[in-house]
Amino acid sequence: MSADQPTYSFELFPPKTPEGMEKLKDQVERLNAVGPRFFSCTYGAAGSTRERTFETVAWLRCQGIDTAPHLACIGSSRTEVAGILAHYRAQGIRRIVALRGDLPSGMGMGASGDFRYANELVTFIRAEHGDWFHIEVAAYPEFHPQAPSAAKDLDNFRRKVEAGADAAITQYFYNADAYFAFLDACAEMRLDLPVVPGIMPITNITQLARFSDACGAEIPRWLRRRLEGMGDNLEEIRAFGHQVVVDLCRRLLDGGAPGLHFYTMNQAGPTLRLWQELGLPGGRGPI
Ligand SMILES: Cc1cc2nc3c(=O)[nH]c(=O)nc-3n(C[C@H](O)[C@H](O)[C@H](O)COP(=O)(O)OP(=O)(O)OC[C@H]3O[C@@H](n4cnc5c(N)ncnc54)[C@H](O)[C@@H]3O)c2cc1C
Repeated sequence: MSADQPTYSFELFPPKTPEGMEKLKDQVERLNAVGPRFFSCTYGAAGSTRERTFETVAWLRCQGIDTAPHLACIGSSRTEVAGILAHYRAQGIRRIVALRGDLPSGMGMGASGDFRYANELVTFIRAEHGDWFHIEVAAYPEFHPQAPSAAKDLDNFRRKVEAGADAAITQYFYNADAYFAFLDACAEMRLDLPVVPGIMPITNITQLARFSDACGAEIPRWLRRRLEGMGDNLEEIRAFGHQVVVDLCRRLLDGGAPGLHFYTMNQAGPTLRLWQELGLPGGRGPI
């Protein structure tokens, strides 16, 4: 498979309980059957999910699945991060999603550790491991909620790329124009790397609104109002949400997006319905 073929990937989070882990295994089996390029697994900043992320990643690796652990650096020391990277490298892992993360509430800035921003983590990984890891970073087509301005946020994105990121995965969004404008801005800055849209299936407006408020992702007003108007009619919400996301994905792929990264929320069904309707090809292969 050539490096510039579209990359379709699935994101998981580490379950909190043994029962959750058993459920996740079933979901992964179903998701893996369609042949995604890789699975990624989130990591709580300051090591808050460390052991659970390790366990989930180790299980994925045992299934022979190409796995990209997320690594959020805020709140961690260089020694801790070096230990985590060595742990993954020893398992033959070649892909990392390098992030700053957000400190859990209640932890003051004194707990911020040795890294302030994701570009410092990317620099550290390259200095310690050369080209061993394929590094993905986060991108925000609608801009990071803490950025003082769009221009500064783009400049900070550039720093991560220049530090050695190979590719980026975006925060989810429902406005394709924001994504294309972000690509234009990258081209103006001469940043030549794949920026893969992060896709959040829509199945439940309460959960989506809570999640979006927490991470600063935007649900456009027309979409929020339409979904709210459906009240408790989950079937209607799912059917409408599915169509909205299918249309979004089609626009993104037709406009040249280099793949799609699905936020599965550990549920195979909504992502697989999108995959099937979009007629996506399976595609494993070298990084
Ligand atoms: C695909 C994806 C996966 C994610 N996975 C996780 C996860 O597993 N665990 C987790 O905790 N969180 C995760 N997040 C959330 C992410 O950690 C938060 O959005 C966090 O607030 C920012 O992380 P970042 O890596 O984008 O940070 P950065 O790129 O460091 O940016 C953070 C903010 O600081 C600014 N900034 C960056 N560099 C500088 C600089 N050098 N000087 C001044 N300002 C700067 C940026 O403009 C931005 O406003 C994920 C997000 C995405 C999009």
